[in-house]
Amino acid sequence: MSRNMRQPSESELKQYYLIEKMTISEISKILNMAQGKIYNFLKKYDIPTRNHRETGMKGKHLTEEHKKIISMTHKGKKWSEETLEKQKIAQNKGIGRKELHNGYVRIYFPSHPKSDKRGWILEHDLIMECNIGRWLNKDEVVHHKNGIKDDNRLENLELMKRSEHTKLHMKKKEVMTY
Ligand SMILES: [Zn+2]
Repeated sequence: MSRNMRQPSESELKQYYLIEKMTISEISKILNMAQGKIYNFLKKYDIPTRNHRETGMKGKHLTEEHKKIISMTHKGKKWSEETLEKQKIAQNKGIGRKELHNGYVRIYFPSHPKSDKRGWILEHDLIMECNIGRWLNKDEVVHHKNGIKDDNRLENLELMKRSEHTKLHMKKKEVMTY
């Protein structure tokens, strides 16, 4: 139990983490608060974490839950009866619900380390993560080869370094999309 029960404010965490570039471990010592709690506050305030090592995610492999979701998403748009059945089960838990958002497919997956405040992640990221068997790093993005943002067939997806990806789109003189 922490002796210091004060909750860090959003501006305080932004100052430490984003401006002073302190690590979660360093902030944890300053605030006398467990690293996991600091991480939870960063997520709560929607402050993007820098790398997986810091969040304790590095080297962790996909859980059964992730694999289950992937077996649903991998099949693409035409889902088999079996997949639809799995989807129904998942929906009862709220997991695996899909919707279109800004042209991208997103999937409800609150336990994913990169899920947003409301529990959504981008489906194409998840599909790539399951393909490579690890979480994406902060400097990696998943590109849609044919430019169609909701075409999440694995063969349409390419894992790229963020800088390479930016260059590619600049060369094509396109508006930046994934
Ligand atoms: Zn792209």
